Amino acid sequence: LKVIEKVSEMQALADAWREEKQKIGFVPTMGALHEGHLSLIRRARELCDRVVVSIFVNPTQFGPAEDFAKYPRPIEADSEWCRREGVDTLFLPSVEEMYPDGNQTYVQVDGLTERLCGRSRPGHFRGVATIVAKLFLCVKPHVAVFGAKDFQQAAMVRRMVRDLLFDLQIEVAPTVREASGLAISSRNAYLTPEEKISATVLYQSLNLAESLIQSGERSCERIIAAMGSLIDAVDGTRVDYIEIVDEVDLQPVAIVDRRVVIALAVFVGQTRLIDNRVVEGGWRSFPR
Ligand code: AMP
Repeated sequence: LKVIEKVSEMQALADAWREEKQKIGFVPTMGALHEGHLSLIRRARELCDRVVVSIFVNPTQFGPAEDFAKYPRPIEADSEWCRREGVDTLFLPSVEEMYPDGNQTYVQVDGLTERLCGRSRPGHFRGVATIVAKLFLCVKPHVAVFGAKDFQQAAMVRRMVRDLLFDLQIEVAPTVREASGLAISSRNAYLTPEEKISATVLYQSLNLAESLIQSGERSCERIIAAMGSLIDAVDGTRVDYIEIVDEVDLQPVAIVDRRVVIALAVFVGQTRLIDNRVVEGGWRSFPR
C-alpha cells in the first residue's frame, strides 16, 4: 500500500498508470472504514487494474453546527483495512493540500440537491460536489464507486459528471447492513448500545412502507404517515424527513405509480442517520 499525501504526486502516479493503460478505480471516503466502504473497494477491484481509496474529511461539506471536529479519524486501522483489501494507493491529503488558498470555486448541482438532505443540510452538497470534482482531478479515475446508502449524493455525482463532461464512469454499489438491518455508517460509532437498537427503526419503517405498497397502498401521504408513527413510537428518535421521490429526478410523488425511492433521515439521540430503498411501484402487483 502506497500512501500519498501530495496532490502532485497523486496526479503523477495516475498519469503513469494511464500511460501503461492501467484502468484506475477510485473510492472516495471520509475514513473510519467499515464493511460498506470495503464493498465499494471490492467492486472497484473487480472493475479495474488499480484501486485508489481517498480519505479526506472535507470541511466544506459540514455545516457550522455539524460534527467536522469530532468526526472519527482512525487512520492506522483504516490503512490496515486498505492493505488487507489490496488497495494500491491510499490518497490522504491534508486540508491545506486540497484547499491551499482557502477556496473561491465551487461546484453546484441544481435541482437534485434542493430537497431531502439538501434541505436539512444547506451547503452540504455543494461541498461534496466540489471535493469530488477536485478528487477526480487528482486521481484521474476511469471508474469511481459510490454507495447507494447516500443515493442523493450518488445521483448528484452522476449529474455532475454528465454536466461537466468528466470522462469517467460512476458505479453505485448496494447498501451494506448489519444483521439487524441497520445500514452501516461511520456515524453509528456515535450511538450508545440502546440507540443502536432504536436506530433499526429506519430499516423497519422501510420494510413497513414496502409491505404497504405490496399490499396495494399507493398513497404516499398514508405511507409516510405510517412510517412516521412507527418511528415516533421509539423513544429518543426525531424524524428529520421522510420522502417518497421519483428515482430519476428526486421530485416528490403523490402516488406510487412508478419506481420510487423512499428516503428518510432520523435523529437518534444527537446522531442523524439516513437510509433509503428503491421500490418498484406501478399497478403491476394487482391481479389482471
Ligand atoms: P463516507 O465515508 O461516509 O463519506 O462514505 C464513502 C462512500 O461509502 C460513499 O459513497 C458512501 O455512500 C459509501 N457508503 C457508506 N456507507 C455505506 C454502506 N453501508 N453500504 C455501502 N456503501 C456505503
